[in-house]
Amino acid sequence: MKIQFEKVGNTAKPFRCTLGKLALSGTLKKSAHHRVSLASMLEGEISLACDRCGKHYIKQVKNPLVLTLSDEMCKDKEDLDIIEFLDGVIDLTYILESEIDLQKSIYHYCPECDGSEEILEIEF
Ligand SMILES: [Zn+2]
Repeated sequence: MKIQFEKVGNTAKPFRCTLGKLALSGTLKKSAHHRVSLASMLEGEISLACDRCGKHYIKQVKNPLVLTLSDEMCKDKEDLDIIEFLDGVIDLTYILESEIDLQKSIYHYCPECDGSEEILEIEF
């Protein structure tokens, strides 16, 4: 799902974008010159492979996601939450894909391994 940067105004514009069983819904609002603020909720299911046993499992996700979007190169790199869309088109599917990749890159155990880890901690 793509939205032209210049079509986002000072009034919050609602959107809903889905990818698989995951949905990103919220609003886009112009916050400053070349800046759009995204306030949204990431909700649904992500299929993950356990880092311990390799088993695939479903993780329920419900996370607020707040980002600043820009259509120009950001000179100050201090704000790490800025995503640049230099072609002037906000790609919400890309944001959703990035969030899924982020979830996958975090070290994660399936519910069964999570449980066995607790038992190990008690033994030591
Ligand atoms: Zn596991």
